[in-house]
Amino acid sequence: MAYHPTKYLPFIGASGLLIIITGIVVMFGWVYHIDILTTVRPGYAAMKFNTAISLILLSNAMLLLIPAQDKVKWVYISKIFSALAFFIGAWSFIQFFMNHSYNINTLFFSHDENHHHDFIMSPHTAFCISGVGLSIFLAKAKRIYLRKICQYVLHVTTLIAFAVLVGYLYGVPELQKLSMMSSMAVHTSIALILLSVSASLINPALGITGIFTGTMIGHMMARRLFFSLLAGILLAGYLRIFSHRYGLVSVEFGISLLTVSFCVITLILIWIVSSILNRAHRRLQAAKENLRRVVEAAPYALVMSDKAGMIYEVNSKTKEMFGYKPGELKYKNVAMLVPSYFREEWMKKRTSFLESPAVKHYGFDDEIPALRKDGTVFPIEIVLTPIKTDDGVKILSFVSDITARKANENIITKQLIELQSKNQELEQFNYISSHDLQEPLRTLLNYIQLLEEDYPDLNPEVLEHLKVMEASVKRMSTVVRSLLDFGRLGRNKKLVLTDCRQIINDVLSDLSTIIKQNNATIVINDEEQPPKVYAYESELRQLFQNLINNAIKFRKKDVDPFIEISCKRISGYYEFAVADNGIGIDQKHFEKIFDIFQRLHKESEFAGHGIGLANCKKIAEMHGGKIWVESAPGRGSTFKFTILNFKP
Ligand code: ADP
Repeated sequence: MAYHPTKYLPFIGASGLLIIITGIVVMFGWVYHIDILTTVRPGYAAMKFNTAISLILLSNAMLLLIPAQDKVKWVYISKIFSALAFFIGAWSFIQFFMNHSYNINTLFFSHDENHHHDFIMSPHTAFCISGVGLSIFLAKAKRIYLRKICQYVLHVTTLIAFAVLVGYLYGVPELQKLSMMSSMAVHTSIALILLSVSASLINPALGITGIFTGTMIGHMMARRLFFSLLAGILLAGYLRIFSHRYGLVSVEFGISLLTVSFCVITLILIWIVSSILNRAHRRLQAAKENLRRVVEAAPYALVMSDKAGMIYEVNSKTKEMFGYKPGELKYKNVAMLVPSYFREEWMKKRTSFLESPAVKHYGFDDEIPALRKDGTVFPIEIVLTPIKTDDGVKILSFVSDITARKANENIITKQLIELQSKNQELEQFNYISSHDLQEPLRTLLNYIQLLEEDYPDLNPEVLEHLKVMEASVKRMSTVVRSLLDFGRLGRNKKLVLTDCRQIINDVLSDLSTIIKQNNATIVINDEEQPPKVYAYESELRQLFQNLINNAIKFRKKDVDPFIEISCKRISGYYEFAVADNGIGIDQKHFEKIFDIFQRLHKESEFAGHGIGLANCKKIAEMHGGKIWVESAPGRGSTFKFTILNFKP
């Protein structure tokens, strides 16, 4: 049941202000002897000075309690105000019965013979004021029963003040006086109704106020019915008195008319209520039907069971999954869906779920077996949800058969193991072959050098051939070494918190010679600072080094290199870019350049072995990212790569 105390703030605020203004006007009337301000209409009872003060105190006390100002300090002041009003009310009430010498009624005004009002607060006003005072005083009490009692005291006040108001409406002096000597003024009665109703809204869920303030259909009906019925009855009663007073109809005819009009009012209201209830009922039916369809269409088996495991409801997917016919599962125990060897464990899980009922998943990390009617066992994933019903907590289980997924997982795991072992073999092969190849290359080189040294008089043509051989062997040795490094990338490396800015600075200082030689300008765009990330540090350094090195190397002959390094954050990734003003790359080579040993130029044009970008690709992928290039011939190139912003 939802109650929104803040919803009533405008009403509470407006009533409070209205009463304060009325009180001030009445006090003004008393001070300056302007009767009309105290009586509203000549001949009517006046609102007493003390009543006006009390009403002002009470309104302030109430306004200080409205939730927006629910501060301890305000509550404290409110208590002082309400206590004062209670005191004035209670004293006046007691004094009415005991002729006490300390006359509170003449506290502010001495009795004035020329002034025709009496000063005595009527006992029912005094009672109401002390009642409202007490109720506001205790409105924020911690104990609920105190607040409840106060709420009912407020309701009694509303009733008394309403009776007086009806007396004024129908011109019944007895009701105004309520068989006591002094009368309650008409505006006092209105103020007391407003005050008691709005004060009761400080605790909107309590007492009769709770019937009107909730959001359920019953509350809505109460609101609609009560106020229309009240208006109808008041009007019918008024017409009855009016017709009687002016002798328009006989008493019998008048009462018959009153009875008939009551019947008509009641009938109209019943009609309205029944159509609202019917509409709500139809909506409920439609919602139920929709829910039933959702349940039936769900890709899960849905099983509703009680704490003891008795099955109440299942959808058709359940019957299909477990191989039962309609009706075979209802009122049986869920244990029949669990293989015997797992029952005890499953019941333990259910018990622990019931100890702290909140949505729980099973079968994601652990194995949960289920039992079909034909005795076959299959793996499931199950989500248990507590459902609150009038008969206590029930358990709704969403069951999915994960046989196919498990089978796929097994295949994938098997393939993964195979792949890992193949990879290991390959790495081993790469390592051994590169390593073993180095040895004969070294021997070859040694012999070439020996030949050159030992036979200085060799034919120049032979010497020339030896030089070519030496260069080729050296190149091959470098290639083999790069291959070895490529294979080793990321092996046994650990993620460490790496400062990218620092890495870039280190690379720039390592490359300072070639930067100077090429008269290159390198800027780091500091719109977004290169971040600190968890990365394979030396690999990331190599990546930056390769890209910056290439950006300088593939420069235009007659233009000084200008290189810009930038970084930006995109959901879960960091994207880095190294942009140059070099020779650029044709779009058709965008993919190829990242393959190992792929070059677009001859060694004589630009030195290199075509392994740098292959390394970069592998490093970006090791960091969960990718690398690509944006370029056009003659227009420079921008190499971009991403790395995952991941925690180890
Ligand atoms: P290498 O630099 O040893 O040739 P890479 O793998 O680093 O090998 O680069 C492969 C090819 O990509 C280079 O041969 C070159 O043609 C092209 N390339 C790389 N970087 C750039 C660049 N910044 N501007 C133009 N071309 C580039």
